[in-house]
Amino acid sequence: MTGWVAVAGLGPGAEELVTPEVTEALRQASDLVGYAPYVARVPDRPGLTRHGSDNRVELERAAHALEMAAAGKQVVIASSGDPGVFAMASALFETLEAGPETWRAIDIRILPGITAMLAASARAGAPLGHDFCAINLSDNLKPWALIERRLRLAAQADFAMAFYNPRSKARPDSFVRALDILQEECGPERLILFARAVSTPEEELRIVRLGDATAEMADMRTIVIVGSSRTRLIERPGSPILYTPRWAE
Ligand code: SAH
Repeated sequence: MTGWVAVAGLGPGAEELVTPEVTEALRQASDLVGYAPYVARVPDRPGLTRHGSDNRVELERAAHALEMAAAGKQVVIASSGDPGVFAMASALFETLEAGPETWRAIDIRILPGITAMLAASARAGAPLGHDFCAINLSDNLKPWALIERRLRLAAQADFAMAFYNPRSKARPDSFVRALDILQEECGPERLILFARAVSTPEEELRIVRLGDATAEMADMRTIVIVGSSRTRLIERPGSPILYTPRWAE
């Protein structure tokens, strides 16, 4: 059989948010690789070999997938959300570019998924309805000074901003610093959404003003969305709607 690699986005958590294309690739796969909790989200079946791995071994995982595909296996690399957003698709291409010429003949497909910021935005209303940007707050792969610079410039450009990986045990203080910068640039009245474990049974949404936001409101399962200066709330019975109108001046 001809080998292939599909890098598949499993979406934010709920089964209904997995695309039919991803379900079909998982059905055809001989091997499933990925960070162990993502591999665990795929139901077991006969004929599927599972290779769950640790979090920070993206390049080894990608090389393993390419080696298996070169040997004729049908390999799915599972990512959460979308595989092209702070995830395995780029890791695969970094490995491909540095690897043997023969790998370039491998059939590689990237299968999109619903990324956390879009799932969270849909739950809250439409905070990303006008210009926005997405920033990964993890400094694993870039210096913190660059993160601060991007934060400040994005705030000054009045983008709505989605923050992935806001906080981890390894760097408990960096999100405190990020909130300080945002308060300085955007003021205390700016709206901020903390959306945790969106589309799972543990989902929690919280909308506050920047002046009331604390670092403890976020963890590694939270995506944080800071509105632009135009972002507003519509109060109504139950939860309010957070949205950004389509225009700016
Ligand atoms: N490829 C993923 C992002 C991986 S980075 C995607 O497209 O969604 C991991 C970060 O994504 C987490 O720290 C968190 O900020 C965010 N995230 C992933 N799933 C989430 C969910 N269900 N709810 C809220 N945030 C989530």
